[in-house]
Amino acid sequence: MFDRVNVGESCWASTAQLPTFGRLDRSLDVDLIVIGSGVTGITTAHLAKQAGLRVALLEADRCGSGQTGRSTAHLTAVTDVPLTRLIERIGAARARAIWEAGFAAITRIRAEIRDARIHCDFAWVRGCLHAPHGVPGVQARAALAQEAAAAHTLGIDAAYVDAVPGLGGPGVWFDGQARLHPLRYVSVLLDRIDGDGSGVYESTHVDAIDQVDDTVIVSAAGHRVTARYLVVATHVPLPFARFEDDGPQPLVNVSTSYVISGTAPAGPVDEGIYWEHRDAAYEYLRIDRTDRDGAPDLVIFGGVDHAGDEPAAPAERFARLERRLAQRLPGVRIERRWSGTIVDSIDGRPLIGEVRPGVFVATGFGGNGMTYGTLAGMMAVDAARGVTSPWADLFDVRRQGGLPGPWERAPDARAVC
Ligand SMILES: Cc1cc2nc3c(=O)[nH]c(=O)nc-3n(C[C@H](O)[C@H](O)[C@H](O)COP(=O)(O)OP(=O)(O)OC[C@H]3O[C@@H](n4cnc5c(N)ncnc54)[C@H](O)[C@@H]3O)c2cc1C
Repeated sequence: MFDRVNVGESCWASTAQLPTFGRLDRSLDVDLIVIGSGVTGITTAHLAKQAGLRVALLEADRCGSGQTGRSTAHLTAVTDVPLTRLIERIGAARARAIWEAGFAAITRIRAEIRDARIHCDFAWVRGCLHAPHGVPGVQARAALAQEAAAAHTLGIDAAYVDAVPGLGGPGVWFDGQARLHPLRYVSVLLDRIDGDGSGVYESTHVDAIDQVDDTVIVSAAGHRVTARYLVVATHVPLPFARFEDDGPQPLVNVSTSYVISGTAPAGPVDEGIYWEHRDAAYEYLRIDRTDRDGAPDLVIFGGVDHAGDEPAAPAERFARLERRLAQRLPGVRIERRWSGTIVDSIDGRPLIGEVRPGVFVATGFGGNGMTYGTLAGMMAVDAARGVTSPWADLFDVRRQGGLPGPWERAPDARAVC
């Protein structure tokens, strides 16, 4: 399975303790089945249980062992697709709705953290979209000034600056973004799912899905789980979740991204989350600063993505990342190196919704999966309860822009289901 080939353990894995659960050992009937236990599946199962549904959360491996534990966990409502492009494509009202959807998800995360008193290093920080490496200053300035103007058109709090402290080139600051420790966050939600007719099952690989009338039947670990509603939260496509009569399926692109992390004395670059203004793969940086006197910054830096989900020449890619980081922030003591899988939709908007009545999928999150995975959980539980989400059309998995067409890149595209 292609999300099992990542290189190295992330900086979160060593500092998080997730609860453990047994393998599925009997057949079950519940209200909602969730396949996949990353931020999307855990959020879905947690919210569903809160809403009074009986849930079975089925995870092939350990909970949190997918991409959620490999994320750099920038929580941002700023899309990977530049705002100028988004407005051009779908208009200002819908571009604004995407921002609101992202923000609703971050607000939800904040509320969970507050209500359950989760210690997961959550902090509101500024996000900075900055000039990409190697692009001439004049060109970068014009493009970033346009991004700031587009943000203002949408009523988003953003400020253009000619020189980002510590990085030098132009950038746009977005207020009200955030970051957290992804595994500490999900571990507390996970703890609240098991019991009262709901259960979490690890080492439970789902092998087949079927639907007979209004009942979804999932085969896993030699047993059958039945429910009225299924949420496929596996991040990467599940080929067997496709049904013959479903018609054309939306496509995704899969790529591999590399990350290094370490510590450094607090330097000229402000605490925050940073990412390059680029169409395709971009470099991303996160700086966590603590209030403790003399405590070093946690520095996380990623990029050098390539198409496909098999890591390619990782040693060379990590070396390239280290050189790039040293140019920006000299003196970081590198402690961890890892890679992970990014799944993009063809039009840059996540794919969240029903592929058919009773079967909900959530994928195509790009670099915003902590935000969109949470949003998907909120939307999935609404859908399972028959409530129409305000964002259902925007992220509809059957939309035209999610289907093959004259969009920018689909060299390695796969069907979602
Ligand atoms: C290097 C990197 C950096 C990133 N940085 C950011 C960031 O800064 N901000 C951000 O918002 N997003 C970021 N992302 C994206 C984000 O991490 C992902 O989009 C998000 O974690 C996906 O969550 P998920 O729950 O959908 O999937 P996952 O966390 O991958 O969970 C899916 C689970 O499904 C399980 N599964 C798969 N198949 C089966 C099966 N047949 N049966 C049972 N279980 C199955 C897997 O074992 C896995 O545990 C980053 C991703 C990477 C790789």
